[in-house]
Amino acid sequence: MTAAPDGQLPLLLERIDRQARERFGLGRVADYIPALTDVDPRQFGLAVALVDGTCHAVGQADVPFSLQSITKLFTFVLAFRSEGDGLWRRVGREPSGAAFNSIVQLETESGIPRNPFINAGALVVTDILTSRYAHLDYALLGALRRLAGEPRLYWNARVALSERQTAWRNLALACFMKSHGNFDNDPELVLDNYCRQCATEMSCLQLARATRFLARGGRGDTGDPPVISADQTRRVNALMLTCGAYDGAGDFAYRIGLPVKTGVGGGIVAIVPGVASIAVWSPELDTRGNSVAGTWALEALARHTGWGHTGF
Ligand code: GLN
Repeated sequence: MTAAPDGQLPLLLERIDRQARERFGLGRVADYIPALTDVDPRQFGLAVALVDGTCHAVGQADVPFSLQSITKLFTFVLAFRSEGDGLWRRVGREPSGAAFNSIVQLETESGIPRNPFINAGALVVTDILTSRYAHLDYALLGALRRLAGEPRLYWNARVALSERQTAWRNLALACFMKSHGNFDNDPELVLDNYCRQCATEMSCLQLARATRFLARGGRGDTGDPPVISADQTRRVNALMLTCGAYDGAGDFAYRIGLPVKTGVGGGIVAIVPGVASIAVWSPELDTRGNSVAGTWALEALARHTGWGHTGF
């Protein structure tokens, strides 16, 4: 894996920042969660956290945005850490090829979601964590604050409420899994936790720092014990590569070739194992719910640095 030549990364990021903004207007801000439309669509931020501890950032990299499905990465890591391979009894690890909120496969696959990064799978993960933590919302916030090194992180209560009041499809997914015996808690309670989790806000800089452990074999920024083992980290990255962009995962692997996790807030996190974690944000989405300018920026970054397409 090649790293960008020393000193050239800041210049490259500035060029990408300028060119990514030419993509404004090509996508649409998510509006099925009404409060997400409050955001100014013409924003772009990019942060690269290198494994040596340095960070490079351009654009609106310090503006907090709604993490949405990116939180599925963190809840999966927490559940994988506590359940180990037992987790795979409740959720699969295959790409779904279907929309992130699809219910179709659950019908034929007996209530076992394809992977932890689609909504059904993430709801199962949140169900597992709801059983484990008395106050999952605050436990998760505490974990995210430690990872990002930012004690003031919070969820946006307006966005959480807006999603909760319109979460009929997610409630249907949870109830359907409950009917198959793959849900332990009251779906309404899990939905409360899920909507708060999704409404957590971070900036690109904070998100890049919070995911740096995935580029460092599970080791965080402080001298604390590893977040997860090196072996688990490889597996998280593999799952991000195959399932991290919903039904766009194949296209992401083709264009970028890095483990990613996307969210309908317009954020994307990408991992370059052994090199860096990257967070990019721009609110306008393509039809699959992935950031248009963010995807373009990652493709440009991967092409110019040689990051990605490991082993090909
Ligand atoms: N909270 C959103 C939902 O459940 C997250 C979806 C996403 O980011 N793809 O619909």
